[in-house]
Amino acid sequence: MYVGKIDHYILRPHLKENMNTQTKPYDSSWYPIPKGYAKCPCCDGTGLVELTEKEKVYSWNKDKTHKQCSNCGGQTMSGRALGYSKIDPNTGLGCEHTVIGRNAGRCYHIYTCTKCGYSYDIDSGD
Ligand SMILES: [Zn+2]
Ligand SMILES: [Zn+2]
Repeated sequence: MYVGKIDHYILRPHLKENMNTQTKPYDSSWYPIPKGYAKCPCCDGTGLVELTEKEKVYSWNKDKTHKQCSNCGGQTMSGRALGYSKIDPNTGLGCEHTVIGRNAGRCYHIYTCTKCGYSYDIDSGD
């Protein structure tokens, strides 16, 4: 039985697909963006950005052409880009964050965007 396109996406949630797909951005146009958020301007909603020529030469980037977008999630502890970012009140569009970091403990840093107030923390301790 042919299940159609919608069922195909339900069976493969977009986040999982995004994590495993390093070469082809997924189609996010069908996916609802939470209130207060809009399409990420850095990756155009795909959650993936193309590697620079410089980055492509590293051995750990072998066969990789894209990386998780560092504006909408790739920069966080989970490393998972969502394809959308908080709305910048000045533009009404997805924010291209300008983050400032502060040390909040030995290996603990809190980063806050000066434009939309989005914040995330990085605990580099182990
Ligand atoms: Zn992004
Ligand atoms: Zn921001």
